[in-house]
Amino acid sequence: MNIVTKQRKTNFLSSPALDCLRALANINVSAGCVHNCLYCYTKGYSIYPGENTIELYENIVAKVTDEIKRKRKKPRCAYFCSSCDPFQPIPRIQQITFDLMKALLENNINVQFVTKGIISDKTFELFNEHPSKIFGHIGLITVEEKILKIFEPGAASPPVRLNQLERLTKMGIEMSVRCDPIIHGLTDSDEQLQKLFSAIANTGCKRVSISFLFLRPAIISSFKQNISDKETLDKILKPYSANNILPIGLSSKGTVLPPEIRKAGFEKIEKIAAGFGITTRICGCKNNDITTQKCYLTREIMNSPKLLFS
Ligand code: SF4
Repeated sequence: MNIVTKQRKTNFLSSPALDCLRALANINVSAGCVHNCLYCYTKGYSIYPGENTIELYENIVAKVTDEIKRKRKKPRCAYFCSSCDPFQPIPRIQQITFDLMKALLENNINVQFVTKGIISDKTFELFNEHPSKIFGHIGLITVEEKILKIFEPGAASPPVRLNQLERLTKMGIEMSVRCDPIIHGLTDSDEQLQKLFSAIANTGCKRVSISFLFLRPAIISSFKQNISDKETLDKILKPYSANNILPIGLSSKGTVLPPEIRKAGFEKIEKIAAGFGITTRICGCKNNDITTQKCYLTREIMNSPKLLFS
């Protein structure tokens, strides 16, 4: 992995591209992500540095701290991260994330994160000091390690993620699982879903956000380059041949599964999850043709309707 360090002059705090999250202050700790998920939507972004490169900004902690100080109205909650994982297994990134989260929490700003990575012990200790200010989401699309090794080659194993979910839930932190993207024909069989929801239920977590894979040209290229089994590749891509395109976020689009497949899939998943005492919420941003639901990423905003990023 090629790690490039830079200084940045422009602000780090930004508004996420998804409309539902715009009230949060978004922070990306790197450009690029060592988890290298094949389906990562950032692959098509102009700032994406390529599969084997990570860009780090040496001045990020000092600059964010300064941005917070200068704001007349502080954000109530900061979101890590829309375009990378805050807990990538690189010591420098872990340190940056820790320093940023500590500075935010000490300034009374809540922290929301999504991760498939490994959370360090000192970050657990930090979270344990501020459980009511943390909103966490663990990404997990299946518990089948063979599938995850292909689709999320650099991310933590399912047992590590589930163990972290359990530890954080037991600390009293509001946790949910982000089961997104579900890959139709590969991770949505009854057996796979039973195993997934059973494993989640065992951690004590009761909330799961769900959405199916959407495609963009960069994601299709990534699948074609990295999935050697042609049969599997065809099975994944074929249902998208109807070319259903939906707006995703404020300025982009994606090719989604036909609505009848998503509707039937969500109903099945909801039922299986309910059997384990788990409530699901669909990501409405990626399914705005069939639902007005909002996933658990928006929970902090829903809880605090006056939350504003200024
Ligand atoms: S963890 Fe998230 S940001 Fe990182 S590669 Fe995977 S999908 Fe992209």
